[in-house]
Amino acid sequence: MFSQTIYVYLCSSVAKREKLEMFSLGDLYKQVIIDHTKAPRNFGKLEPCSHDAEGFNPLCGDQLHVYLQINDDNIIEDVKFEGQGCSISTASASLMTENLKGKSIDEFQHMFDAFHDMATADMSDEPDEEVLGKLAVLAGVKEFPSRIKCATLCWHTVKSAIEDAGEPARTE
Ligand SMILES: [Zn+2]
Repeated sequence: MFSQTIYVYLCSSVAKREKLEMFSLGDLYKQVIIDHTKAPRNFGKLEPCSHDAEGFNPLCGDQLHVYLQINDDNIIEDVKFEGQGCSISTASASLMTENLKGKSIDEFQHMFDAFHDMATADMSDEPDEEVLGKLAVLAGVKEFPSRIKCATLCWHTVKSAIEDAGEPARTE
């Protein structure tokens, strides 16, 4: 059933690959990722915003633009994203925006590190669910090395916006 939904969003070759991968993920992972792909949270432009950046993952073709409103106390008051990408990159950005609102920049940094560890660490390591909460559903991506950058793109893009790097974040 979900494969038909995914087909709507993707060209068929990508969809075939994703279908195979999705079957290997646990049911909870699948449900959450499909839900966020079909109905991304905080999708759109944030105007005005204090920080923004673009991100690109050439490996898959994912493109993102993130917008942040950060107040004088370094709290992320609002965050939104736009772009086009595969289901993992869209779901990851959607889940990230849901979890960043109200967090401080220090907390973001902490979550960035925990997420990065989760996506790239040894298979036997358990994700830090205390820091990551619902984001831990994306732990399954590390079984698919080619998709790790799809999941981490949004985090690199927010980091680049906060650091005001001035150049698009790239995973390559
Ligand atoms: Zn991707």
